[in-house]
Amino acid sequence: MAPTRREFLKIAGISAAGLALPPLAKVLHGTQPSVAPAAGGAPQAASPSRQALKAKRWAMVVDTRKCHPDCRDCVLACHRAHNVPDFDNPKDDVHWIGAEKITHVFPAEAHSRLPESIRGLSVPVFCNHCANPPCVRVCPTQATFQRADGIVMMDYHRCIGCRFCMAACPYGSRSMNYRDPRPFIPKIDPAFPTRTKGVVEKCNFCEERLAQGMLPACVTACKEKALVFGDLEDPGSDVRRILNGKFSLRRRQELGTEPQIYYLL
Ligand code: SF4
Repeated sequence: MAPTRREFLKIAGISAAGLALPPLAKVLHGTQPSVAPAAGGAPQAASPSRQALKAKRWAMVVDTRKCHPDCRDCVLACHRAHNVPDFDNPKDDVHWIGAEKITHVFPAEAHSRLPESIRGLSVPVFCNHCANPPCVRVCPTQATFQRADGIVMMDYHRCIGCRFCMAACPYGSRSMNYRDPRPFIPKIDPAFPTRTKGVVEKCNFCEERLAQGMLPACVTACKEKALVFGDLEDPGSDVRRILNGKFSLRRRQELGTEPQIYYLL
């Protein structure tokens, strides 16, 4: 027997409610959300203010000649601003900025006759916000995606922890939370959400600060001004001015990923 109009409306109502099912990430992780709201319920990304910094293509220049070997100011500022955990076991390491020997960062340019002063140098490494990012192509849930201004983003809510992006990234720029990170965050900043076990994370070029008109935390923290950030498409920007006047390298250019971090050596 065909349902009455009243019965039909009831069924339609139940179907509509079904559309509000939890996302796949939540299903696969159980009832635990993949992003824990920050204390105070701060949103994942700050809503743009009128003073938001904008660019056609964000890029960073790292002047390695200004980097001090033992300085970690940029790393600490970044990790503090983004609630990056500090795990006691190096196997669980999660980082947004790392420090690597320059010979690892540029293996094709390294040779045994390099002066010790250069061979021993450590330089900061980040997500390169590649213009042609392999991590974005392999993500099955579009948890990682690229904005029009080039920033390669992570939607932690959509991450199912498959680690395809980690396998695709040739730079080791991504970290997986193999454990619940929250007990290992030295001091939780309520302005940024914490993550949970099973979620991948990485540098976001401080998109939440750009939206509020501020430069990335690492750039602001560097007393030596070794990090310069700006719009690569703007001929008058600092990054363009520096790149026009000096020899620079990008990591593993032969792969065609088009990194947007430029190193001065
Ligand atoms: Fe993706 Fe790695 Fe490139 Fe960052 S550096 S955009 S994580 S491939």
